[in-house]
Amino acid sequence: MVGKISFNPKDVLGRGAGGTFVFRGQFEGRAVAVKRLLRECFGLVRREVQLLQESDRHPNVLRYFCTEHGPQFHYIALELCQASLQEYVESPDLDRWGLEPTTVLQQMMSGLAHLHSLHIVHRDLKPANILMAGPDSQGQGRVVISDFGLCKKLPVGRCSFSLHSGIPGTEGWMAPELLQLPPDSPTSAVDIFSAGCVFYYVLSGGSHPFGESLYRQANILSGDPCLAQLQEETHDKVVALDLVRAMLSLLPQDRPSAGWVLAHPLFWSRAKELQFFQDVSGYSLDTTNL
Ligand code: ADP
Ligand code: MG
Repeated sequence: MVGKISFNPKDVLGRGAGGTFVFRGQFEGRAVAVKRLLRECFGLVRREVQLLQESDRHPNVLRYFCTEHGPQFHYIALELCQASLQEYVESPDLDRWGLEPTTVLQQMMSGLAHLHSLHIVHRDLKPANILMAGPDSQGQGRVVISDFGLCKKLPVGRCSFSLHSGIPGTEGWMAPELLQLPPDSPTSAVDIFSAGCVFYYVLSGGSHPFGESLYRQANILSGDPCLAQLQEETHDKVVALDLVRAMLSLLPQDRPSAGWVLAHPLFWSRAKELQFFQDVSGYSLDTTNL
């Protein structure tokens, strides 16, 4: 028990960087995840909590409940999730609660568009930081963006951040401009690049557009993604190819915004798609039997 938070140290849900553990626990009688960080990490805790408090009123952002401080550790009570996107993709037996791959990507982008509208750049998007919550009373799962440890709120009137306090992110998922010399002033387009890697990872069932983990970041810098798995002639893959290619553009200014990604035909319903083809072709189809 630490203040209002309790947890079982044997019930580990995950491990993070720098000695961070996440346990299954309770907050005021509610099942939660308890993220435990070392005492030295106070700056990290403050940033994570502050930005979660600012942004968690969105269904696709992890909910924050409370923080407690002990002699050795800080404890953050968070919405309890069932799996990460990595497990969703890599464990075929996992229950998906009705979440199709394109729904997963759409929900992740809705969360990201919300963060960007608040001028928050996540800076560490990757499958381990995208979680699946649920199921709700209708048996439906929900995707949430988590791990705000590297998030950055952009100062008013600025659209870029400096790299003075280090290069944020995880190797293999970082936009090329973060590692460029001389250093550039990166923008929220770094998240679109990482999201593009996640799109390919989900749609291809676990591949990465820049190859095996050892070579990924070097391949990212040379800027030539391999999107072979989107070249198959299935509907979602054909529609996704150009979008993912644009999200992975070497130049940040060539990448689409989160709102633009959400408006892409990959996320259109079949009815909307059909309506579009009718409108541009001038033909009206009899859809009663479709
Ligand atoms: P770090 O900031 O050190 O990367 P994370 O917040 O990403 O830590 O947590 C590490 C791991 O713990 C995640 O990859 C995930 O597997 C698990 N985890 C984190 N938060 C939750 C949660 N709310 N519910 C369930 N599991 C979680
Ligand atoms: Mg993490």
